[in-house]
Amino acid sequence: MATGYNGTPFGLTNCNEGGCKRCNDNVHQGIDLDKCLCLHAEESAVMEAGRPRCIGGTIYTTSFPCQLCTKMIIQAGIVRIVYNKNYDSYLSKEMLAMTNIQIVCCNPETGTIKITQNRDRNSPSQLLEDVISQKTTGNGLDLPSNFTSPMKLKR
Ligand SMILES: [Zn+2]
Ligand SMILES: [Zn+2]
Repeated sequence: MATGYNGTPFGLTNCNEGGCKRCNDNVHQGIDLDKCLCLHAEESAVMEAGRPRCIGGTIYTTSFPCQLCTKMIIQAGIVRIVYNKNYDSYLSKEMLAMTNIQIVCCNPETGTIKITQNRDRNSPSQLLEDVISQKTTGNGLDLPSNFTSPMKLKR
């Protein structure tokens, strides 16, 4: 298991201490990313774990991953993305549509999960369901019976 957060690389002034001008200027989401010194939480977590420990794993992320993080997630061999907030990245969606990565939107506030991409890994071309909505019960996630992978980012 590994964790990551948005921020500047090790040794640099932290983003919340003014380390990244772009982020401290309150630039709109997705704008001027080429001027950002920060690593995204997803890329930090993937680097922390390394590909061998990511293969077959699940990544939990606050927002739907950006284009760069999506590339890393795919390359790392992660098989499921669970996210909370939408992030409009056409290229992320386009790339993920070419994979068998399961995509789950989880809303802890309403206790709902929505599977937005779920393909049969044994027959890559077959899209099983476009959208499954399910209400969760209790505190934990009540995942559908077709969830087979481990819940944590681990081997
Ligand atoms: Zn930044
Ligand atoms: Zn990202």
